Amino acid sequence: MDHPVLEKLYHPENYRTIGHQLIDILADYLNQNYKNDIKVNNYQNAIDSLHSWEKFLSEDHDLLAFFKKILNDSMHVHNPNYMGHQVSVSAPIASFGGLISDLLSNGMAVYEMGAASSVLEKKSIEIINKAVGYDKDSGGFLTSGGTLANLTALLTARSIKIPEDVWQNGYEDQSYAVMVSEQAHYCIDRAARIMGLGSKGIIKIATDENYCMKIEDLESKLQDANQQGVKVFSIVGSACSTSTGSFDNLEAIASFAKKHHLWFHVDGAHGGAAVFSKKYKPLLKGIQNADSIIIDCHKMMMTPTIATAVLYKNELNSASTFKQKAEYLYDSSEDFDWSNTGKRTFECTKLMMSVKFMSIIQFGGIGAIEAYVQSLFDNARIFAKIIQSIPGLQLAMQPQANIICFRCNDEHSSVQELNKLNASIRQRILEKGDFYIVQTMLNGNLYLRTTIMNPMTDVVQFKSLLESINRLRIEFAN
Ligand SMILES: *Cc1c(COP(=O)(O)O)cnc(C)c1O
Repeated sequence: MDHPVLEKLYHPENYRTIGHQLIDILADYLNQNYKNDIKVNNYQNAIDSLHSWEKFLSEDHDLLAFFKKILNDSMHVHNPNYMGHQVSVSAPIASFGGLISDLLSNGMAVYEMGAASSVLEKKSIEIINKAVGYDKDSGGFLTSGGTLANLTALLTARSIKIPEDVWQNGYEDQSYAVMVSEQAHYCIDRAARIMGLGSKGIIKIATDENYCMKIEDLESKLQDANQQGVKVFSIVGSACSTSTGSFDNLEAIASFAKKHHLWFHVDGAHGGAAVFSKKYKPLLKGIQNADSIIIDCHKMMMTPTIATAVLYKNELNSASTFKQKAEYLYDSSEDFDWSNTGKRTFECTKLMMSVKFMSIIQFGGIGAIEAYVQSLFDNARIFAKIIQSIPGLQLAMQPQANIICFRCNDEHSSVQELNKLNASIRQRILEKGDFYIVQTMLNGNLYLRTTIMNPMTDVVQFKSLLESINRLRIEFAN
C-alpha cells in the first residue's frame, strides 16, 4: 500500500489502539448511564444540532473526540430513565457481534459471501420457531426491520393465496384486500399500498376497550368486502399493537382464517418475543397456527438495531415470494435452498444480523431472552399499579405487554385542555432530558406513552418520573 491515507485507514495497529480506547470510553459510558450520572438525552432541536455539528466538523478533532460527540448527542437507551420508543436496550456484548460483522462486511446475499452468518441465521430461526411451537416444516430468515418483514410476509401471502399470477401479469380485474385491526402498526397499511392494493385493499377492524381487534366484526366485514367485489386473501393479527401493547385474540383469528382459507399473518414485531416466556406466552395463544409471523430481535430480544425474524409455518412457501409460480417447483424440502437467503429476502446485500442475535444466545443462553421479556412485562404491571394509586392520573388500560399509556386527567378540563396539558408535559420532559417518554393519541385523547425497555428501570425511576410529571402539572396550572 503506497498511499499514506489508505495506509492510515487500514493499519492494524491504528485499529488496535483506537479500539482499546473506544472500548474504555464505551464501558465508562455504560457505567455513567447505569448510575444515572448523565441525562438520558441532551436534547437540542434539529437546527441547533446541525449548527453544532457543522462547527465541530469544521474544526480539528481526532476520531475519539468525534465518537464522544456522537455519544453525547444521542439518545441513551441504557439509562434507566429511558422509557420511550420500543428499541431494545441492546445487550452490550451483542455490540461485539456488530463489530466483527462490520469488519468482515460479508454481504450475505449468497451463501459463500457469509457462510458463518448464513448458518447462524438458520440456527437463530430454529431457536425462535421452536419457542413459537412450529414443527420441522417451519423456517424463515432475518431481514432489515419489522416494516420490511411484514411486507415480505404479505408478498408471500399474495403469491400463495391469489390464484392469478400477479408477479407475472400484475393485477387484472379482481381487487384484493388484507384485514387488520385499526390499531395495527402503520406499516401494514403501507405494505398493502406498496403491493398496489390501494385504500380498499386494507380493511380495518374496530377494536374493543382494550384496543384489541373485535372478533365479532370479522364475518360482517368479510361479507361487505365480498359484496363490493373485493377478495380478502389475508388477515393480520397484532401481537401486540404498537400504541398500547394490546394482543389480538390470535386463536380466534386463526379459526376465522382457516374457515375462509385466508393467509394468517402475525405481526409480532414487539410482543412476539413473549413466546420465550412461560409466564407470558399465553398472551400469544394460537400463534403456532399462523402461516407467517414476524418478530423484531431489536425490540424484545436485546439485539442491536436492526434484525427481524420472518417465520413461516411451512418454509417452502417462503420460496415463492419473489418468484413466478412456475419456478416454484420444490418437490421436497431437500431441494429447497435455505442457504442462499437472498432468494427469499428483499435485500440483496444484507447485514450479518444473526451474528448479533447469536452472540447473546452464546453468552447468556436462551434463558436470557425469557428473563428480559419477563422482567420488563412484570415491571410494567408494577408501574401501572403505582399510576393507579395516584389521583389525577388515568391509565388507558391495564398493560398486557410492557407498554403503559396514561395521562393527567381531571373532571373540569375539556378534551382540548387535557391534550394540551399532557402534550406540554411530554415536551418539557423531552427538553429537560432527565427522562425520555413519548405520546400517543387514543380516541382523540392524548396519552403519555412509556415502554419499559431497560431491565434496570425500577420503582425508583417510576416514582421519580411521576413526581416530575406532577411538578410540571402544577407549574402549568399556575
Ligand atoms: C415496531 C413495530 C413495527 C415496525 O418494525 P420496525 O422494525 O420498526 O420496522 C411493526 N409492527 C409492530 C407491531 C411494531 O411494534
